[in-house]
Amino acid sequence: NISFEGKVALVTGAASGLGFATAKAFAESGAAVVLADVDEKAVQAAAKELADKGFKTLAIRCDVSKDDEVEAMVKQTVKTFGRLDAAYNNAGIQNVLAETADSPRDDYDRVMSVNLRGVWSCMKFELQVMREQGSGAIVNCSSLGGLVGGNQRGTYHAAKHGVIGFTKSAALEYATRGIRVNDVCPGLIRTAMADQMEAGGQGEALKMMREMFVPMQREGRPEEIANAVLFLCSDAASYITGQSISVDGGYVMR
Ligand code: NAD
Repeated sequence: NISFEGKVALVTGAASGLGFATAKAFAESGAAVVLADVDEKAVQAAAKELADKGFKTLAIRCDVSKDDEVEAMVKQTVKTFGRLDAAYNNAGIQNVLAETADSPRDDYDRVMSVNLRGVWSCMKFELQVMREQGSGAIVNCSSLGGLVGGNQRGTYHAAKHGVIGFTKSAALEYATRGIRVNDVCPGLIRTAMADQMEAGGQGEALKMMREMFVPMQREGRPEEIANAVLFLCSDAASYITGQSISVDGGYVMR
């Protein structure tokens, strides 16, 4: 069993889905957990749910597309818990569906500012703390979309490809300094994002993807992503850095 006893973990986009499942898993493994999210009410409620079970938590409202808010989030983490051992940069949004020729510029800016620049900004301030400590592990959230193309989802897929580039670069830079950087590539996972895709008329597409493309023929559970993130942040993964781990029921093989 992986233990984070005495360690401090930070999760962005922690109010929902994969972020909340991972924050919960860190807490259950003994970590003090910082839950950060742009949705203040939801992140307060998520942190309270864990605090009510006796876990050490801190809720922070933070929009990862705002550098000053990300810097403040990391500062607040260290001020409250004294250090930062593990970070899961998970906050992400979808692009508006449109083929590339019709893709709106403001949607591009919105998605990039959260999914790519947000990861860059989080890594930047987390690494300042970890560099000082001489230890730490970061997991960025890419996607199956970070490895393959996507119909009408070019902006999202480009951002998620970019996350992998940042992951590998930071992993190289800090490999001798006690800091590991990896990413997870979730496939089809049942969260609010999948619900949103269904509500937006993509239900049939999701069903088809499940049946035709997922070798395990089912959606993943958020806890299955959390398990991979905890492994990558733990000493059990002490010789693993710069890697993208697909957690997708085998989808990437198709
Ligand atoms: P979700 O919508 O359930 O949760 C995302 C959370 O991020 C929400 O709480 C939201 O408020 C928060 N958020 C959005 N913008 C933010 C911002 N600017 N700053 C801080 N927080 C912000 O989504 P999810 O399915 O749990 O997705 C989490 C991550 O996993 C995303 O990066 C997504 O791209 C990735 N992913 C999800 C799937 C899937 O099938 N669910 C597949 C591949 C990748």
